[in-house]
Amino acid sequence: MHDLKIYFASSNEHKKQEMMRLLDGVVLTLPKEESISFDPVEDGNSFIENALIKAKDLYSKVKAPVIADDSGLVVDALDGRPGIHTSRYGDENGKKLLQIEKNAKLLDEMKGKTNRSARFVCALVLMLSNEQIYIIEEAVEGFISDSVRGEHGFGYDPLFLVENTNKSAAELSDREKDSYSHRGRAARKMALLIKALKEDLK
Ligand code: IMP
Repeated sequence: MHDLKIYFASSNEHKKQEMMRLLDGVVLTLPKEESISFDPVEDGNSFIENALIKAKDLYSKVKAPVIADDSGLVVDALDGRPGIHTSRYGDENGKKLLQIEKNAKLLDEMKGKTNRSARFVCALVLMLSNEQIYIIEEAVEGFISDSVRGEHGFGYDPLFLVENTNKSAAELSDREKDSYSHRGRAARKMALLIKALKEDLK
């Protein structure tokens, strides 16, 4: 069977790699790989709203099947922050922090907090036309560690201790991360959806 080409409404190479691992037989194409401009204003009030904004923006440009991902880290002791603003956490006056600085900032904000519970959330949207839009949302529970741990993964993985593993997400192998992660859980449902919609995706 030929690989199925689907546009991925993101500019994040790491997310693309994870999603391609999880969606066997699907080739994801980032807008930048075809020089398509993609920088929608993510001003939704939820992960799902932001994933829909990304999907609709890219669909209007490519008029072909699109998958969008919006994800982030929800920390209970910070009243749910950084949440839907995770990718912009700590950015000020147009100055973007490096991920290593974002991690240091989060550890600093969590100093002295006894409630360390948190979750990664992933909303996925599959958009086949203006009328055919599918939404999935999944999460993985865990805790914010008190120091960075591990070399794998990306983003906040080094300070997110995955429930029932005693490891940070950056200490898990790709396979282990896929089996626990928010994106892994959501993508497994997406894979089933794509299988069921095979005829519509031809
Ligand atoms: P988005 O691209 O607007 O969805 O931004 C989500 C942000 O959440 C990313 O920039 C990452 O910093 C963070 N994030 C999402 N998924 C993960 C993950 O699997 N591991 C670590 N950080 C993640």
